Amino acid sequence: MYIEIQSLICGLMEDKDVQDYTSQIKMETGLHERDRAGVQDFVLLENYQDDGAFIENLKKRFQENLIYTYIGQVLVSVNPYKQLPIYTADHVKAYRNKHFYEMPPHIFAVTDNAFRSLIEENRGQCVLISGESGSGKTEASKKVLQFIAACSGNQTTVEGVKDRLLKSNPVLEAFGNAKTNRNDNSSRFGKYMDIQFDFKGAPIGGNILNYLLEKSRVVAQMGGERNFHIFYQLLAGADEALLQELRLERALDRYSYLTDGLNGSVTSINDADSFKQVQQALSVIDFSQEEQREIFGIVASILHLGNVSFIEVEGNAKVNSRDLVVTAARLLGVNATELEAALTHRTIDARGDVVTSPLIHELAIYARDALAKAVYDRLFSWLVQRLNISLQAKETRGARNNVMGILDIYGFEIFQKNSFEQFCINFCNEKLQQLFIELTLKSEQDEYRREGIEWIPVEYFDNKVICNLIEEKHKGIISILDEECLRPGEPTDKTFLEKLTQKLAQHHHYVCHEKAPAHIKKIMLRDEFRLVHYAGEVTYSVNGFLDKNNDLLFRDLKETLSKAGNGIVRSCFPEKELRSLKRPETAITQFRASLNNLMDILMCKEPSYIRCIKPNDLQTATVFNDELVLHQVKYLGLMENLRVRRAGFAYRRTYELFLERYKSLSKSTWPNYKGPGGPKAGVQQLVKDLGWDEEKYRVGETKLFIRWPRTLFDTEDAYQE
Ligand code: ATP
Ligand code: MG
Repeated sequence: MYIEIQSLICGLMEDKDVQDYTSQIKMETGLHERDRAGVQDFVLLENYQDDGAFIENLKKRFQENLIYTYIGQVLVSVNPYKQLPIYTADHVKAYRNKHFYEMPPHIFAVTDNAFRSLIEENRGQCVLISGESGSGKTEASKKVLQFIAACSGNQTTVEGVKDRLLKSNPVLEAFGNAKTNRNDNSSRFGKYMDIQFDFKGAPIGGNILNYLLEKSRVVAQMGGERNFHIFYQLLAGADEALLQELRLERALDRYSYLTDGLNGSVTSINDADSFKQVQQALSVIDFSQEEQREIFGIVASILHLGNVSFIEVEGNAKVNSRDLVVTAARLLGVNATELEAALTHRTIDARGDVVTSPLIHELAIYARDALAKAVYDRLFSWLVQRLNISLQAKETRGARNNVMGILDIYGFEIFQKNSFEQFCINFCNEKLQQLFIELTLKSEQDEYRREGIEWIPVEYFDNKVICNLIEEKHKGIISILDEECLRPGEPTDKTFLEKLTQKLAQHHHYVCHEKAPAHIKKIMLRDEFRLVHYAGEVTYSVNGFLDKNNDLLFRDLKETLSKAGNGIVRSCFPEKELRSLKRPETAITQFRASLNNLMDILMCKEPSYIRCIKPNDLQTATVFNDELVLHQVKYLGLMENLRVRRAGFAYRRTYELFLERYKSLSKSTWPNYKGPGGPKAGVQQLVKDLGWDEEKYRVGETKLFIRWPRTLFDTEDAYQE
């Protein structure tokens, strides 16, 4: 068996050794000629602390179509922006049941490794995919799913589950993705998908969690961007009968919610075909005809609502286009007169004093847009819940630990103008970085300490201080924002900013305009604050923070929808929400709660990391922009990751597990080690009998630490023979 030696060497190694080893490999390996561009594992880089060398290696490999490179067990993936023939059934077979380092780096190797830990050692897994928009996260998550589907069980029941898991993607993408200026198929929501397996490794169910859909896109888009795909798919792909039923016309420019940004089709997308796929996927996932009718009814009603305009009569808004309200009302299954009134009035119930007053023109437009956004947002969450019902495992006995999660979530965002959305997304990335530190950096060092292994601490930046700045109770930015939102009187974005500055001006990671150093002051406006994130500094404009956090939908509209004849709408706006005396939670509080829940889920799993990088801003296969890549390498923390990796031990096993597996390799441990000192002594005896050099390993309190994977593989090969 040929082993890809080049990647086997991890852990402490002098640069000279690396050089010798690398050249030795080059001489030895005709087989991996094609992989000679650069090193397959950054651990092998001679100058591993130089970011220029790091970029050079990525670039060389990118130019050879070698898009995957390891940092130890972490996979770095560069978006090739072209189809590569590396995901075939043969590739699945080649990577199945192989040692991690036996084959060239690949997303299948990472998936196979996680899958085997799951099945053989019963440890819950999660694959964490991160990177900026367009870096290839969603494509990566599909490859993980593809590999799992291709190499796990094939009984009919399992096939059904796999089909539904795979088909959930086109549905989620139709409703949750859109063309942006960065990515023609950009996910505008975060996704965490759990796949459950039975003890034989066959998938038996799944569950999806969704995070923060960018619902503002429903009513407005930036130049060059589109609304969510489903609107265009419906108009291009629906047959005449459906269009007629929904009172729609094919022409996009008829709909004001579609005409803001890029008014039209995108060459990389075939909306009509996609619509057929969505319909087919919905059927596979057991959505009834009635449900499908209701779903498209809601999508159409939003288009009609967007066209509803108002006129002002004596200062009060009046609907100008009653027929549109009638059509929207019919599709939602609500009373048209009631909807019309709800769009132009607001009822306030102040402790039993119910007062209804007409809205001014501007507020009526606000109410209409809030309605469209809320309906779409809740439809999306409903779809996820509905998918989950279809994906629910019928039989969950014994499957508790056998879960593999895949997280595909927005990466760090630093734009020209950053607002509430970027604040949420970057907060999410701070939390994920915390998790990364907890799970890898810190736990790695803690373990050496606990096990009494000599270890030179590696310095790293712990971003807990930034997480606290954002989320600490009573003191953090979130608390201050919520307090301001709930405060009686006239809170505004400006008063929010004043409070922030009042309370946080001394914090090292908070920069306000007044106290900013001169060169920053020059580029900051008075309505902005700046946070020093682990990944870089970001300036946020407070405009819209309060409004977006309050996420207000007038009571009249909620009440109208709670009685809807369209069953989906009715369940999205339950009556009990109206009866509740509690104020609805603010957007950021809900988001924080869902993030903390996600952290709890991930914390008890074994992580695999896929770090995605986008080579250029042009969505093309031919350009590798060094500067852009360096920026991403920095904020993904890859250099830090490499530094820690170079200083460590590649493998560790508890004495019990190690002895159980390899006891047959020595007479003194076969069939059982009977000497004093238990498994630890047994393992020490065993490695002595195997003639291991002292440099190859360390003996910890409960585990054996192996410096290079090669040592373990040689042992494994001896075991297999
Ligand atoms: P966003 O955060 O905007 O959702 P993303 O990181 O999920 O972005 P993807 O949608 O996965 O990015 O990738 C963007 C595009 O890049 C894909 O539509 C596809 O054209 C191309 N791409 C990504 N990964 C690959 C790959 N492994 N092979 C071929 N093309 C790819
Ligand atoms: Mg995506």
